[in-house]
Order: sequence, then C-alpha cells, then structure tokens
Amino acid sequence: MSLLSQSDPEVFAAIEGEEARQRDSIILIASENYTSRAVMEAQGSALTEKYAEGYPGRRYYAGCEFADVVEDLARDRLKELFGMEHANVQPHSGVQANMAAYFAFVKPGDTILGMRLDQGGHLSHGSPVSFSGQYYKFVSYGVDRETEMIDYGEVESLAREHRPKIIVAGASSYPRSIDFENLRRVADSVDALLMVDMAHYAGLIAGGVYPDPAPYADIMTSTTQKTLRGPRGAFILCKQEYASAIDRSVFPGAQGGPMMHTIAAKAVCFGEALRPSFRAYQDQVLRNARAMAAEMAEDGLRIVSGGTDCHLFLVDVTTLDTTGKAAADLLESVGIITNPNAIPFDELPPRVGSGIRIGTPAITSRNFDEDDARSVARLITRVLRNPEDEAVLEGARVEVQALTGAHPIPELFD
Ligand SMILES: *Cc1c(COP(=O)(O)O)cnc(C)c1O
Repeated sequence: MSLLSQSDPEVFAAIEGEEARQRDSIILIASENYTSRAVMEAQGSALTEKYAEGYPGRRYYAGCEFADVVEDLARDRLKELFGMEHANVQPHSGVQANMAAYFAFVKPGDTILGMRLDQGGHLSHGSPVSFSGQYYKFVSYGVDRETEMIDYGEVESLAREHRPKIIVAGASSYPRSIDFENLRRVADSVDALLMVDMAHYAGLIAGGVYPDPAPYADIMTSTTQKTLRGPRGAFILCKQEYASAIDRSVFPGAQGGPMMHTIAAKAVCFGEALRPSFRAYQDQVLRNARAMAAEMAEDGLRIVSGGTDCHLFLVDVTTLDTTGKAAADLLESVGIITNPNAIPFDELPPRVGSGIRIGTPAITSRNFDEDDARSVARLITRVLRNPEDEAVLEGARVEVQALTGAHPIPELFD
C-alpha cells in the first residue's frame, strides 16, 4: 500500500476511506462479505498479467503452465465442493455466468421460466431492463400471497402452459428453502432443463445448511463473492453431458480471456470452503439470521414469510410508516448498512421499496454470535421506531462503534 500512497495518493485515499468504512460499519447487505487476506493476495498477484484464452491444456497462448495449475485447482476443488461432474470457473460475474448458460441451451425468442424480480428473483432472470428479458421470452412465477413462499402449483401450471426450455430456480431476496426436487419433477414433466442460480445460497449449500440442488440440477450458476466469501466472480457447474456446450458458451461465446488472478483467488476461496470450519461459519450465518429475524418479530416488526431458512430476511417497514429507501438511509446515518427491497406484491417502485433486506454473512465473518445479532436487531428496531430522536440516533452510533470495535475484520479464516 505504501507504493500506491506515493504513486497515486487520490486512489490510495479512497481505498483507505473504504477500509475504514467497512471496519466501522455493521454491514448487513446480504450479497456482501469479507474475504480472507489470502484471497486478496491471490487476486493482486502476477496472474493479473497473463492471457490464457482457452482451457487448461488447450490454450491459445504460450506460457500458460501456471495458469493451468491454478485453473485446474479451482475446477477440481469446486467439483468436490458441490459434487458436480463439470466446472467452468471463468465467468467474470454472476450475470455473465447466466448469460453463458442461456447461450448454451436456448436461442433468442425461446421461452424460459424464472422467478419474478419483485418477489425475489434476479434481473438476469428475465427483467425487461436486462439482456435476459430482451433476448428471451421469459415467463415468471412468484410467491403465494398468504404464505409469501414460492407457489409451486403456479410454477407447474405456467410450465404446462408455456413449455419453457429452461426453468430457472434461485433468487436474490427469497428467504426460504427452495424445493429443488419439486422443480426437477416439473422440469421433467415438460422436458425442460433445470438451471439453479445459487448465487446467494452457494456458501450455505457448500456448508450443508441449505437444501442441496446438485442431485436435481442440470446446470448450476453462482457468484463467488457472496456467501462463499471469495473474490468477485462466478462459475458454472453442470453434468458431464453439457460440459462442452457450457465451455464453448463461456469462451469464446460470451467472454474473451479469463481473469487468471481472479481464478487463483477462486481456488483459494474453494480451498477455504472445503475446510470443516466453513461449515461452522455457515451454520452461524444461519443462526444469526434466525436470531435477528426472531428478535425483530418479537419487537413487533413484520418479517416477510414469517422468518428465514438462510442468510437473509426481509423486514416489511410499511407498519413503521416509512419506505425501504428512507429506512435504509436512516440506518446508514448510524453506521448500519442495509438495502431497500421490494416485498411481495409491493406497490412502491423498486428503488424505494416497502422493505429492507438484511443479511448476516459479513457480520458473521467478523465473529458476531447470536447475542450480538440480537443486539443489532434491537438497535435497528429502536432506530426505525425513533427516526427523529437525536438522542436515540446518537446512542445507536455509539453502540455501532462498540460492536464493530469488539469484532475486528479477520485477516485469515482457518
Ligand atoms: C448477485 C446475483 C447475480 C449477479 O451477480 P453479479 O456478479 O452481480 O453479476 C445473479 N443471480 C443472482 C441470483 C444473484 O443474487
């Protein structure tokens, strides 16, 4: 860092500011986490410079000896982690992994069935503002109005009616277990592929605390930066019969040269995720989310679907006479970082939203336990109930500093 401070003080200062912000905030963004220094080191390594188009043993450039070593390590560890036959670790991001998966199996105009964005799905599952909604005919399923859980009857009837080529499972703000076995049955009944975008749940699945899609999925896509606690990036897993279609679709179909430095960091991340301590971490992520949701419910807040089976949950803030955006801004002013989120059947626009999404991966990486999580939950409720009370807000700021001060960001995860 001292080199950067001399050569580019402006960028250096911004990075230092970001480090301080991360250190001094309680980060509850469900898609964020802290990586180990080992992951950061791999990502800042000499592999940054290497062009390695192609795959191990079949490159378009000379000098790929060590690029092959890291990519093979990443692929082998990933296959072991999730028990799938083939891995592609080159996708630069979650959206690009999904793009490559669609490219491999459907043509523009073909029908895909995915989850509605405003009820938990992701932009890349058919939103009209994403390439996905523009190139393919997406049909969307959602949740039941009463239970706020996926309406599998609706999935089945939409599948029968529209005969999709792919059914996409997975979500960005759906707190409950997904019944992958049921979705497999629906996919089989209409001869569709089942693609599971596990971007949010991947870490929990690897840790054995969320339903495992591997026995049911034809294709699995994921990011690596969320619950998996790796670098920013993504991957695709699939059955052997789809391996060459997926590989061709990633490169040269959707991307050029792989980011070998990021692939090295993915290999480190998968190595960390194979250790027994990773299971304990994921178990604690889930316990912390459940403890927070239960504490808030006890304090009278409405938790969408009544609770959570994963690392995140949604709080309906309409009962507090506020919006998701106003609630997230208020919490940020005391050092608690969340995001506004639509709740099922929301009438507000997405950037405002009637809810906030809360996730526990990042605080759990800082060793917050359930007592700490309950303290954070009470703090949030107190702030949201007293938006204009300066004494409450100041007290909250002090408490946030005490909690973050007591939980340093670890350099390494064992
Ligand atoms: C985060 C996410 C993505 C996109 O990942 P990026 O790396 O931001 O492109 C895709 N699908 C789901 C379900 C996600 O939650």
